[in-house]
Amino acid sequence: MSAPIKPLDLLDAEDLLSDEERAIRDTVRAYVEREIKPHIADWFETGEIPVRPLARDLGSLGVLGMHLDGYGCAGTNATAYGLACMELEAGDSGIRSLVSVQGSLAMFAIWKWGTEEHKQRWLPRMAAGEAIGCFGLTEPDFGSNPSGMRTFAKRDGDDWVLSGTKMWITNGNVADVAVVWANTDEGIRGFVVPTDSPGFTANLVHKKMSLRASVTSELVLEGVRLPADAVFPDVVGLKGPLSCLSEARYGIVWGALGAARDCLETAIDYSLSREQFDRPIAGFQLTQEKLANMALELQKGYLLALHLGRLKDDHRLRPEQVSIGKLNNVREAITIAREARTILGANGVILEYPVIRHANNLESVLTYEGTSEIHTLVLGQSLTGIAAYR
Ligand SMILES: Cc1cc2nc3c(=O)[nH]c(=O)nc-3n(C[C@H](O)[C@H](O)[C@H](O)COP(=O)(O)OP(=O)(O)OC[C@H]3O[C@@H](n4cnc5c(N)ncnc54)[C@H](O)[C@@H]3O)c2cc1C
Repeated sequence: MSAPIKPLDLLDAEDLLSDEERAIRDTVRAYVEREIKPHIADWFETGEIPVRPLARDLGSLGVLGMHLDGYGCAGTNATAYGLACMELEAGDSGIRSLVSVQGSLAMFAIWKWGTEEHKQRWLPRMAAGEAIGCFGLTEPDFGSNPSGMRTFAKRDGDDWVLSGTKMWITNGNVADVAVVWANTDEGIRGFVVPTDSPGFTANLVHKKMSLRASVTSELVLEGVRLPADAVFPDVVGLKGPLSCLSEARYGIVWGALGAARDCLETAIDYSLSREQFDRPIAGFQLTQEKLANMALELQKGYLLALHLGRLKDDHRLRPEQVSIGKLNNVREAITIAREARTILGANGVILEYPVIRHANNLESVLTYEGTSEIHTLVLGQSLTGIAAYR
């Protein structure tokens, strides 16, 4: 029997990467193999993850805010950042979420919209993984439609006073700094909130069956008093948070493929060693059809991600193009994970194999950073000119 071709090599897509991009990808892949994969099933099962040591490791690896320039960030291109997201999510979507929220949401918000003082104070420590950030946009009653948010920041003399509740906030309980979006008399504005501010509390979300190796929290702001310069000075309205979401969604376009690839590789390996009816199940045509379809979608998703990465590196990537990537690649990744699960039979439902963990994780990935329905509506609007949200 000839050796199976590694799924990612079917189209020789490897040739489309630069030496530097390949080197970054390989470094992150080796880190994930060495430091994440041996522990991840336990972290997932217990729902406990050593966030601080991991953040410092990821900082040393250079992946926190890696596509940002200056302030201790690595300053790689967007394609290399995408490849890193793919490798991290081949380990677990929760690890990629840690990196996405830190780099693409919290750090990016400060990097893009913060004052020089915000940047100097937070970015170098966040890039090193010594300080952890979170990003508070969603509220209990406002998810897909954040424009209705109730969290309010009112002026009191020169100060700002924030009150409200944020929900489903990744890294909330472990964060040193929260980027919080709040309504004001002028519209939605972003605030840099040290989490030791009086009136700020974070409550862990328990009994989560997805992204268990990731901290998810409710943030409660009860009259949190901040100095005048805590606000992002030059952005008002949803443009602020949406600019950050676009960054994080781009990382997901790549990340979801990592989870899918890990599922496909697992399914191929398993199907070659598992025998039924006196032969490897890989030899059954029904199994091969599943593997072929999974590989097709993985390859197409990879080419899509790479195209979006090149557009981003050329500063031409538009939000609706990111929606194409997020909608397609997460949807296909879930389908691949579920199909891989069937190939593993009963072994597909235990944590000894990564497949059920990836499948469960991808349910969150489908929902956060814009649900599949919302990205569908973005594309519907691009195609017809009609916004169908309301
Ligand atoms: C594990 C996890 C981590 C998260 N981390 C963060 C974080 O760090 N920071 C943060 O701010 N948020 C975070 N989120 C929140 C996430 O972004 C929201 O869950 C998401 O935006 C969806 O909001 P919702 O859950 O309130 O669903 P809803 O908005 O209530 O939607 C419920 C359903 O209705 C559909 N729907 C809504 N509006 C429409 C419409 N107009 N047309 C058709 N269908 C529609 C949705 O697509 C969905 O299927 C996280 C979520 C999870 C699960």
